[in-house]
Amino acid sequence: MAAADASTKPFNIAIVGGGISGLTLAIALLQHDIPVTIYEGARHFGEIGAGVGFGPNAARAMALMSPKIRDAFVKCKTHNLWDSNKQTFFTCRVGDARKADKEGFVRPGKKVGDALFDVRFTNQENSGGVYRAHFLDELVKSVPDNVAKFGKKLVNIDDAEDGSGDAVLKFGDGTSAQHTAVIGCDGIKSRTREFVLGKEDPATRAVFSGKYAYRGLIPMDKAINMLGEEVAQNSQMFFGYHGHLLTFPIEKGKTMNVVAFNSRDTWDDENWVVTTSKEDMEADYSSWGSTVKTIVSAMQKPDIWALFMHPPASTFFKGRVCLLGDAAHATTPHHGAGAGMCIEDGLILSTLMKEAKSAEDLERVFKVYDEVRRPRGLKNVVTSKEAGMLYDFELEGDDLDKIEEDFTKRVKWIWDVDLQVEMDRARKIYSHKD
Ligand SMILES: Cc1cc2nc3c(=O)[nH]c(=O)nc-3n(C[C@H](O)[C@H](O)[C@H](O)COP(=O)(O)OP(=O)(O)OC[C@H]3O[C@@H](n4cnc5c(N)ncnc54)[C@H](O)[C@@H]3O)c2cc1C
Repeated sequence: MAAADASTKPFNIAIVGGGISGLTLAIALLQHDIPVTIYEGARHFGEIGAGVGFGPNAARAMALMSPKIRDAFVKCKTHNLWDSNKQTFFTCRVGDARKADKEGFVRPGKKVGDALFDVRFTNQENSGGVYRAHFLDELVKSVPDNVAKFGKKLVNIDDAEDGSGDAVLKFGDGTSAQHTAVIGCDGIKSRTREFVLGKEDPATRAVFSGKYAYRGLIPMDKAINMLGEEVAQNSQMFFGYHGHLLTFPIEKGKTMNVVAFNSRDTWDDENWVVTTSKEDMEADYSSWGSTVKTIVSAMQKPDIWALFMHPPASTFFKGRVCLLGDAAHATTPHHGAGAGMCIEDGLILSTLMKEAKSAEDLERVFKVYDEVRRPRGLKNVVTSKEAGMLYDFELEGDDLDKIEEDFTKRVKWIWDVDLQVEMDRARKIYSHKD
């Protein structure tokens, strides 16, 4: 390992995985003069052609973490295009025709597809959706070329034999690398998680959540022709029996992102993304109303994403190896908060690592990070699963009054967090821990 120069910290961090978690963490650590290397298993940074929504908490976390991350987000983000909908998370509607009475009403005066209520942000503060591939491209621009190593699939972590307390990472290509500490940002199928929790711990492996999703992108011109401007240009959620469908604009309004959810008891395929036929996809929504059927029929690539989630981890670290993002708390996407939680994790971890003065301090850093972040990350996994059930008429049945009451309050604890207070709390605990 190269000796640290006077301006850098006397430790050297390996980040395993170059997704949203790994890239944002690397940018923040480099900003604090902490040497990092990203080890990415793939041949290049991954690109998923799909939209990701970020709430106000995630937008605040990015701004607090680094102006580079904030600027990348601002460059890519799109919020609802209508001024009257700037504070709206989703406009909620019933999409499933089976909910209608004989006259076609789902609520007095409201039919299938009509707007019922809005779930609104307390303060929208720059939240918005991004096209994931573009956002990753923008983040990559802030990571110097020599920081990322590709084709480095982590297979094992050992203690260094030189008595330094370092970790030695072993990769699938037969190479290895020694670092002071390892941050596992290697996603839902994390190898680092297996190392931290132990292979025999059932919490190591993600479990099927009972839901799957189709993801699609529809050019905005086409979406407007099909649905009209108000529906196409602003976020919508359509409820139904054992499924729901959501849309929001991305790419500065050029594209409408669609995620259509459905349910099944088990998932037996070892692949979590499989291609199905357009007929099978449409069959999943055969009892739904015309708006949802129209949207589904316009989706070109009928890939199914099985939605898995992690059982609660008893710890996010072991010695000098620590978990962050989906590797720590992979969740269903029903709060639209999974990636935001990854970024919040990175904010707190980088804040604490800035305080560390030596390699020996890092375990204390991880301990405080675990104390501050684990309860919030794990709570999101639980309540996000419930949210999916709520939208699918499985939590409050199809009682729209109860659904409205629940949904309008449900995500506030995620959006309204005071991250400055959380950073101060983390620093305070750190300064008092032996
Ligand atoms: C259908 C769906 C919709 C979603 N919508 C939203 C949303 O609207 N809002 C939101 O906030 N979140 C959403 N999410 C969740 C969000 O996408 C994730 O929380 C987030 O992308 C996780 O980022 P990550 O970097 O932790 O993991 P990943 O993106 O999984 O990145 C992990 C990286 O590690 C690499 N890797 C894996 N194993 C190894 C190894 N052994 N060695 C080296 N490298 C390795 C991988 O190649 C990858 O590059 C959604 C998820 C799904 C499935």
